[in-house]
Amino acid sequence: MILTKTIKSYAKINLYLNVGAKRPDGYHDLESVMQQVSLFDYVTVLRDTDTTQRGVRITCTDRLVPSDDRNIAAKCAMAFLDKYNIYSEVSVSIDKRIPVAAGLGGGSTDGAAVLSIMNSIFDVNAPMDELCALGAKLGADIPFCLVGGTCTASGIGEILTPVKTPVLPYHILICNAGHGVSTPEAYRKLDETAKEEPACAMDDVLRAVESGEMPETLYNSFERVILPEHAEAAQIRQTMLVCGADVALMSGSGPSVFGLFRNEDARDKAKDFFDMKGILAMPCEPVVKNIK
Ligand code: ATP
Repeated sequence: MILTKTIKSYAKINLYLNVGAKRPDGYHDLESVMQQVSLFDYVTVLRDTDTTQRGVRITCTDRLVPSDDRNIAAKCAMAFLDKYNIYSEVSVSIDKRIPVAAGLGGGSTDGAAVLSIMNSIFDVNAPMDELCALGAKLGADIPFCLVGGTCTASGIGEILTPVKTPVLPYHILICNAGHGVSTPEAYRKLDETAKEEPACAMDDVLRAVESGEMPETLYNSFERVILPEHAEAAQIRQTMLVCGADVALMSGSGPSVFGLFRNEDARDKAKDFFDMKGILAMPCEPVVKNIK
């Protein structure tokens, strides 16, 4: 018998990302406010209940993404089979819509989707913290993608705290001019430059999202090393503001840039403008989770 399930795997943006010094173990302390957004890939996992061979097959619609055991989703599938001692063949297929190596957590969200689907179609019903611990070994943002909504991340990103928010008062536009950024490379560049004073404190951004207000300022440490080398991304950031975004920022290690617009019409007009310039512009909304 074949069991199959498809879910949407949502991208993330960082409303705040302050990266500290490199620690002796090579990781970086950081503090971040992460927001899940309605831009998504489709992830399907198919379980063949007739085999007792352990194996993972993977296909992806994007040629930039490896369709073998280097794929984060394939790693997650294999780790799940190992952890729960399951002998079965699974096929994972990814319909890729989230730009790759773009600071939007595309690989992590596919990995999180695979863990979540397998937890259900193999009837394992592992608790969230167990899935997060498994995912954290394979992709930095997998725990956040499993929890979703709005979260703060601290420590080396592993301390995740869900943030209760009302409906958020903004519409999002994410732009990507291509030219992926390697996250390890971005960290290396940060280590080579002097630390700067963040433009605001994480608590300022947090207070705004908790009370359903537009944050006055956002901050991302990676902007200072990535934007000077990615003139198009820097230009997009400026243009977002000219087009009526209340605030704009690069997401994660870049080079995607997002704008938050109070006015949906202004967001849609900004999308038309970027379309006209031939720049990929993806309108989306914050994903809000009802947490108790
Ligand atoms: P983050 O914001 O979590 O640092 P990112 O959005 O910048 O990540 P990804 O899209 O996750 O970057 O891709 C990072 C690298 O991982 C790419 O080089 C890509 O080839 C590889 N990769 C492996 N599996 C996947 C996947 N399922 N989706 C996207 N990229 C993948």
